[in-house]
Amino acid sequence: MDLTLPKLEYSYDALEPYIDAKTMEIHYTKHHQTYIDKLKAAVQGTEFEKKDLNEVLKNINKVPENIRQAVVNHGGGHSNHSFFWKIMTPNSEKEPSGEISKEINKIFGSFDKFKEEFSNKALTVFGSGWGWLVLNKGKLEITQTKNQDSPLMENKLPLLGLDMWEHSMYLKYQNRKNEYIAAWWNVVNWKKVNELFKSHK
Ligand code: MN
Repeated sequence: MDLTLPKLEYSYDALEPYIDAKTMEIHYTKHHQTYIDKLKAAVQGTEFEKKDLNEVLKNINKVPENIRQAVVNHGGGHSNHSFFWKIMTPNSEKEPSGEISKEINKIFGSFDKFKEEFSNKALTVFGSGWGWLVLNKGKLEITQTKNQDSPLMENKLPLLGLDMWEHSMYLKYQNRKNEYIAAWWNVVNWKKVNELFKSHK
């Protein structure tokens, strides 16, 4: 597994005003780095160090109990954040196009209905966790996970994810989670989401 920070494809201030530069910088260089450091400490010297992280998460029950929770927490944290950076962009199309757009309309009725349902799922994460759009056995599903649990552990393939930990919003939005969610739609990388959707079909 790659135990280094993945390269950010935009600068810390690129997602302003929706996500502020200070939050981006701390989130990426401190929070994400800490998940990597702790994952490294857990898997060092084991066979899992050489395996693909997402494959390890998909087969989490094969990880021995003494390090399993550390892999869930920090492996999930590393995987979720690596994913999160990729599905955001300063050049957001603001709404989906292509095949994912058709599928969203088919399953949720319209993009607005999808947005409302996803936003509500993210908003109602109790404590720390994530809101997700996933493919579950080939079908689109809106779901949430707690802490840094990865949807991959339930064999669900993430297409879109929103970090609902306070560290992702608190400097700018404090407790105004609904404002954070509303702003985040402006930076979603729908091109990437569509690519992921097509690659999983
Ligand atoms: Mn985070």
